[in-house]
Amino acid sequence: MIPAEFKYLCPSSVDEAVRMLIQEGEDAKIIAGGQSLVPVLRMRLAAPTALIDIGGLTELTGVRDDGDSLLIGAMTTHYEVQRDHLIQDHAMLLKLVTDTVADPQVRHRGTFGGSLCHADPAGDLLAPALALDAVMIIAGPSGRREVPASEFFVDYFETALAPDEILIDVRVPKYTGWGAHYEKLNRVAQAWSIVAVAAAVQVRGGTIAAARVGLTNVGAGPVRATDVEAALVGQPATAESISSAALRASSGDSYKDNLARVLTDRALMAAVAG
Ligand SMILES: Cc1cc2nc3c(=O)[nH]c(=O)nc-3n(C[C@H](O)[C@H](O)[C@H](O)COP(=O)(O)OP(=O)(O)OC[C@H]3O[C@@H](n4cnc5c(N)ncnc54)[C@H](O)[C@@H]3O)c2cc1C
Repeated sequence: MIPAEFKYLCPSSVDEAVRMLIQEGEDAKIIAGGQSLVPVLRMRLAAPTALIDIGGLTELTGVRDDGDSLLIGAMTTHYEVQRDHLIQDHAMLLKLVTDTVADPQVRHRGTFGGSLCHADPAGDLLAPALALDAVMIIAGPSGRREVPASEFFVDYFETALAPDEILIDVRVPKYTGWGAHYEKLNRVAQAWSIVAVAAAVQVRGGTIAAARVGLTNVGAGPVRATDVEAALVGQPATAESISSAALRASSGDSYKDNLARVLTDRALMAAVAG
């Protein structure tokens, strides 16, 4: 189908983009890589009166070293995340997750920030953002504000962003030397998760010193498996202690509950090995 008519605007700075959002009102929308928004427009599931294209804002691309953390520009593409050396050195989990997103064409256009703002519960980048304690840096009419991932994902396709706000950067603490793995079950290669588990583990002298575990597509948003994390800390990095902790990934009997436990076990085993 053909999208409904809209005004197309190209700001030259973040502040100008915010001004445009205010001026155009609640029916205006940011467009980043367009990989999720364009299909939505074509199906006429949304009909924004104006699209504000932030694709030309180079200030929003790339990964920067910021001491104890990395700053990932919202417009950094999946392809750039996959190849970035800072991410490989300090946040390997993000690279491994991004490797599983869609196909090369989508990864060249789709953006890290766009995935988080779209907030599809099956989107792969939400669970690692939550598990790694990422913080969203947001520009709006009153300046800049920071929102932790634990408060950013509100519901199905809903975030803490106001209609006149833009995600500009994502701060991710450094996880240098941690083992990481993303265990994703999907029907066919290069597709969305049925369920997936993002795991990062720090092992010291054979003991699990710290663990981060996030679940994809088991609810309205990403879920942090805090019970699993707590059960792992201080335990020997063995198959027995990992399997025992993984049982805490869910308590129900549904297909997805069972998947969450099995995939958590596999993700943690691989993270510890890697
Ligand atoms: C065929 C196909 C397969 C895919 N498979 C997967 C998959 O396996 N796993 C997966 O995780 N994803 C998958 N995706 C989605 C892909 O990862 C998209 O890149 C992503 O969902 C959206 O990023 P985008 O930059 O294209 O955002 P857009 O489509 O441009 O925007 C999406 C939404 O976010 C808002 N938005 C975007 N950026 C900002 C910002 N900086 N500030 C405020 N609001 C913003 C927009 O207004 C819009 O509502 C797939 C997409 C396609 C087309």
